Amino acid sequence: MREGIDVQVCEVGLRDGLQGLHTFFPTEAKKQWIEIEAAAGMPAIEVCSFVPTSVSIQFTDAQESVAHALAQPGLHVMALIPNLKGAERALPTGVHQLNYVTSVSEEHNLRNVRRTVEESLTEFGRVAALRNSKPEWKKTRICGAMATALGCTIKGQVETKDVLRMGERYLKLGADELAIADTVGYASPRQVKAMFQEAARAFPGVPLTAHFHDTRGLGLANVVAALEAGCRRFDASLAGLGGCPFAPGATGNIVMDDLIFLLESMGLKTGVALSKLLEARAIIRANLKDEPLYGAIAKAGLPKGFRPASPLPLAAE
Ligand code: ZN
Repeated sequence: MREGIDVQVCEVGLRDGLQGLHTFFPTEAKKQWIEIEAAAGMPAIEVCSFVPTSVSIQFTDAQESVAHALAQPGLHVMALIPNLKGAERALPTGVHQLNYVTSVSEEHNLRNVRRTVEESLTEFGRVAALRNSKPEWKKTRICGAMATALGCTIKGQVETKDVLRMGERYLKLGADELAIADTVGYASPRQVKAMFQEAARAFPGVPLTAHFHDTRGLGLANVVAALEAGCRRFDASLAGLGGCPFAPGATGNIVMDDLIFLLESMGLKTGVALSKLLEARAIIRANLKDEPLYGAIAKAGLPKGFRPASPLPLAAE
């Protein structure tokens, strides 16, 4: 985690937000989005997914996005990979982190990546071996992300022990860190707190990221619950872009702008200057005219006299 911050937020809108859209988000606009957020102090951005173009048309410019992000000083650059082929394309770019996704729900995993959970984890082992095969690739961290860890639209409830078992497998296979994702927005605060407490106990010292969607309006409440359990890493997307092709009615990720407001108002430094961050919404608006954009702070503004926890000049309002 970057020095001087209490919580690491990661922008996932460029990946989670864009992946399901049928219109191509222009490469230049992606670059601008990355630049503005990096300049606003965003510590980490997941810039793309190394999926085949048959799955999504959105990331034909994956290499270019990664290269542009790597040129931003101090930015931790991540990319999602669905399989070994993705890792083969991603590792030569020098990306700082690869996020590999397996759904804890067998049914969701079969639909999402057309593999059983066991097949996905075996493939993760190959990804780790590939990463370790060249000294220059060893610098790239790999995160084992557990999708539908808090509920699944196909299966319903997901057992905590299945999440913990998958986390253990990931770590044995070479994961540097883990992510727990409420992919379909089923989670509620009590469940989240219990899950993150159990995960912290089971995986001491392992960085753990929370990935929430705001599908049922509990996204930020779930953030507070995860904070109480000691979690200090959160994914979110600017203006709440995002969804899941297998989660009917799914709205996007939790809203990055509102997340920053929440954390800073709780006295937790994110290092992100909200007013500068909000400027990036214009890029989304200009390029996605028909997509709904979310965000209470963008709509209502900051409270008068609001003092962010992050020191100046980073958080200069
Ligand atoms: Zn997501």
